Amino acid sequence: MRVAVVGGGWAGLAAAVELTDAGVGVALFEAAKQLGGRARGVHLAGRRLDNGQHILLGAYRETLRLLRRVGADPARALRRLPLELRFPDGAGSAFRLRLPPLPAPWHLATGLLTATGASPREKIAAALFMRRLQGRAGVPVDDCSVATLLDRHGQHGRLRRHLWEALCLAALNTAPAQASARIFAHTLRDSLGGDRAATDLLLPTVDLGRLFPEAAAGFITLRGGEIRLGRRVAAIEAADRGLAIHGERFDAVVLAVAPQHAGALLARHPRSAADARLLAGYAFEPIGTVYCGYPPEVRLPFPMLGLGANGDGALGQWVFDRGALCGTAGVLAFVLSGSGRWQTLDNPRLADTLHRELASALRRHLPPFVWSQVIRERRATFSCRPGLPRPQAASARAGLWLAGDYVCADYPATLEAAVRSGVAAARGILGAGETAGA
Ligand SMILES: Cc1cc2nc3c(=O)[nH]c(=O)nc-3n(C[C@H](O)[C@H](O)[C@H](O)COP(=O)(O)OP(=O)(O)OC[C@H]3O[C@@H](n4cnc5c(N)ncnc54)[C@H](O)[C@@H]3O)c2cc1C
Repeated sequence: MRVAVVGGGWAGLAAAVELTDAGVGVALFEAAKQLGGRARGVHLAGRRLDNGQHILLGAYRETLRLLRRVGADPARALRRLPLELRFPDGAGSAFRLRLPPLPAPWHLATGLLTATGASPREKIAAALFMRRLQGRAGVPVDDCSVATLLDRHGQHGRLRRHLWEALCLAALNTAPAQASARIFAHTLRDSLGGDRAATDLLLPTVDLGRLFPEAAAGFITLRGGEIRLGRRVAAIEAADRGLAIHGERFDAVVLAVAPQHAGALLARHPRSAADARLLAGYAFEPIGTVYCGYPPEVRLPFPMLGLGANGDGALGQWVFDRGALCGTAGVLAFVLSGSGRWQTLDNPRLADTLHRELASALRRHLPPFVWSQVIRERRATFSCRPGLPRPQAASARAGLWLAGDYVCADYPATLEAAVRSGVAAARGILGAGETAGA
């Protein structure tokens, strides 16, 4: 059996790894000159950075399995930290939640009840909310916005802002007033509601290219798979009992491109046109990453800090200490998720504003940054709205399978969703092959 994978992001790579691992011949077509898609390493002005700071969670089960399978050691490539959310406000720590090393569910209950900067009422309400979400009745049947869900469950104050709303924006990349409560509830159940290890933060210590794409490419080629970079696929044609790309016949094709790119390829065939129409209804959200290079002695008190503790119209959301994580001392990465006022600022003003907000939150003099680099991913993820329809992995066109973060129906656009979708498409093809041969 020969399979073409279109797209060399984490979904396409996951599909190609799973297929080559099962002895299937794979050709992977990637339009860009490098692998990784929306989670890739970038070289800018002689610096090795990422197109965006990424956070993984202990709950990323399939991603961690695949990292190990391709020989990337998660214990070295990821720094595992117990979940800790710290929002300094210039006068100590305005809000801090840390999950202690206790077995589930005690770690979460204790973490919520001992959070600083929130009232006892808020803490009890948050613990009850989480319990309800973990029960069957808690996941909203009729999807609504996350803001409505939080209102219904009496979530207010700092825990609402710095825990639920911050997690919503970080995980769904969509503002709570627009984000899907159903997907948020699923995400919380699998992460915060999972075992203790599932709640851990996993922060990359290497750039994203080294984390998975490079190791995956080595794994695929070692098993006879081909990686074809700079090869944009314009059409998936019909072939004798199969499909063809650039005139080459394949038994099956995994289309693993972002939803905004999948539509054009799907629209060309009547059997997949319905999926193209479905994707035409998708909206998208941006993510901005602002790298600031400070003198090497500049460090944060924790590798990941929340900004905007005082809620006074601040722009900053999170800042990461790349020195503590990746060994590039003095490099901080500010992350701005979802649409917002930050998009209206030019690069120098944006970097300057975030610098001032951080200095004020830490209440200390920060030396001026020496360089800055702003990366704006305008269509970073699909907007994770209530009731957003998702396509099936097996398309209505024989032999054509879909993969990509948007295909994984219960999750927002994340690395784990991308990897799961790629693995699911590969297993679907392997299962179909076995059936055909039986
Ligand atoms: C700035 C940023 C920050 C993020 N932060 C996080 C985070 O902290 N945690 C997290 O879990 N997720 C995060 N995400 C989301 C995560 O990166 C994505 O969900 C994931 O990378 C999507 O992978 P994918 O393979 O589905 O799609 P993509 O990465 O988009 O891969 C599709 C690939 O297909 C290629 N392609 C497109 N058209 C064609 C064609 N016609 N022919 C051949 N190739 C084609 C593209 O070049 C691309 O390489 C973030 C995303 C961004 C942009």
